[in-house]
Amino acid sequence: MANPKQEIVYTKLFINNEFVDAKSGKTFPTVNPANCKKLADIAEADKADIDAAVEAATKAFSRNSEWRNLDASARGRLLNKLADLIERDINTLANLESLDNGKPFGDSVFDINCAIDTFRYYAGWADKIHGNTIPADGSSLTLTRKEPVGVVGQIIPWNYPILMLAWKWGPAIAAGCTVVLKPAEQTPLTALHCAALTKEAGFPAGVINVVPGYGPTAGQAIAAHPNIHKVAFTGSVIIGKLVMEAAAKSNLKKVSLELGGKSPLVVLDDCNLDEAVEIAHNAIFANHGQNCCAGSRTFVQEGIYDEFIKRSIELVKKRKLDDPFTADVIQGPQVNDNIFNRILNYIEAGKKEGAKLEFGGKRWGSEGYFIEPTIFSGVTDTMTIAKEEIFGPVQSIFKFKTLDEVIERANNTTYGLASGIITNNLNNALVFAQAVSAGSVWVNCYDAVVPQAPFGGCKQSGSGRELGEDGLEPYLETKTISIKLPAKN
Ligand code: ADP
Repeated sequence: MANPKQEIVYTKLFINNEFVDAKSGKTFPTVNPANCKKLADIAEADKADIDAAVEAATKAFSRNSEWRNLDASARGRLLNKLADLIERDINTLANLESLDNGKPFGDSVFDINCAIDTFRYYAGWADKIHGNTIPADGSSLTLTRKEPVGVVGQIIPWNYPILMLAWKWGPAIAAGCTVVLKPAEQTPLTALHCAALTKEAGFPAGVINVVPGYGPTAGQAIAAHPNIHKVAFTGSVIIGKLVMEAAAKSNLKKVSLELGGKSPLVVLDDCNLDEAVEIAHNAIFANHGQNCCAGSRTFVQEGIYDEFIKRSIELVKKRKLDDPFTADVIQGPQVNDNIFNRILNYIEAGKKEGAKLEFGGKRWGSEGYFIEPTIFSGVTDTMTIAKEEIFGPVQSIFKFKTLDEVIERANNTTYGLASGIITNNLNNALVFAQAVSAGSVWVNCYDAVVPQAPFGGCKQSGSGRELGEDGLEPYLETKTISIKLPAKN
């Protein structure tokens, strides 16, 4: 498959249902990581544009607005219509995603289908979000109403651009909020195309606004905005702390954070070895390791350790790296030079600190940001590659003796996003599932992320949950209404 001749139509900010230039007139380039060539110049939002987007979103949310008067079921229909239009444009969107992000075309199609599923899942929720009637003390009818928090800011990363957008828009729209979303500066293209689709679907002006730009300017302006009442952020821990700080210092807006991870995947002696090797391989190498819940610490029990490494090397040799549009490719480039260099530095640190490089470890090819899939064995808990999130195609394999020992070591991290265990012993799986500090535990599988089930982190992996019914919660306020009754009955 040759590189597609994909026209890039949407390059401006989307505010109040119109594509507009940034007030400053500034633009920034978005680049194809497979060949380092510029794809397009994108309008660059900063504070003034965020103010305009918030104004539009505030107006759209105002009392008696078209949006506020819309039936909840109609919000569901809008989400379904958006899903239909994404399905119609899946080829264009997958081209844009792979050009901008570097992930294989087939992976982009997969992500977009997951985004469609997410929109359809939340479409179903729109008219099923309800409160309670409460048997309160005294003589009253007491009930709760679940109301949208209002204007929400959403800041997303570059690793799953359209999917992260769906995780953010689905619950926000189902709840009845209005949205100002900033895509990552590396990958703005699919968000702008989706913005156009919301207009086509019939979303009223101002309900969805998309403002590409950089973090310290546009992102910071969202986090600190006095008229945004909730901010949802997915990205790094360092920036998550800045977002929380800005939220606290401005107007104490609600904050939900989905941050990084250093997720343990534990493989017990009694597993089916080939299956375990493959699960562990996909857990770290999927999306080139650019995955917040990547199984980046592979703990293998001592009885199968050497054989596990041997088979992992055999498997990793089969990975085909190339341009995202090449047939059968499963690994494209990392997203940009910063990330590329950071990963190579981690690989150097691994070697220097005494881990054994079993495979890979270098740049692949001569153009673009490709890195060979890399395996280290003999990794110990104090090494840099054991502690820090690499966010790249680097598998670190640790050895352990007992379940108690590995639970302790698995939890010995500041993160707590995901975890996994591969075993045929149900008791051991359940002991691990209950003891591990993580938002998700996957038994004999990994990355089992679906729209219906909540996802999110403990400790410094974040706060709040996305997806599932829990994913609605950050977009809702509970209002208690008490109505005095003449008599108790
Ligand atoms: P990564 O390291 O994976 O690129 P970041 O946390 O740096 O993750 O970025 C995730 C998102 O946060 C991006 O949309 C980025 O522009 C945004 N961002 C970066 N810095 C800030 C900031 N100071 N305030 C708000 N958002 C920011």
